[in-house]
Amino acid sequence: MDVNHCELCKRDGVKTTIHHLVPREMGGNYGPKADLCIPCHKQIHALFTNEQLAANLSTIEQLEANDEMQKYLKWIKKQPPTVLPKLKKSKQMRKKH
Ligand SMILES: [Zn+2]
Ligand SMILES: [Zn+2]
Repeated sequence: MDVNHCELCKRDGVKTTIHHLVPREMGGNYGPKADLCIPCHKQIHALFTNEQLAANLSTIEQLEANDEMQKYLKWIKKQPPTVLPKLKKSKQMRKKH
């Protein structure tokens, strides 16, 4: 069955991808991972740099507690699992790309 559960927004029936809680670039290749739906995964990497993730946001609990993520999670939980919503990028990431 191709029905998965996102560990961050807790929605069921979403397609999930593996997120390295400590990014691979920061040495997290063999570290803890989480199953995240595509919007959650994209949102994390749109909001935070790998350095921020490794330093402050390396658990689901820390991600959930982050202000920016709370705003996002409130919204995504209302979205149907089959829809891939358009996401906003944070200013700092927009500058980089
Ligand atoms: Zn999710
Ligand atoms: Zn990731």
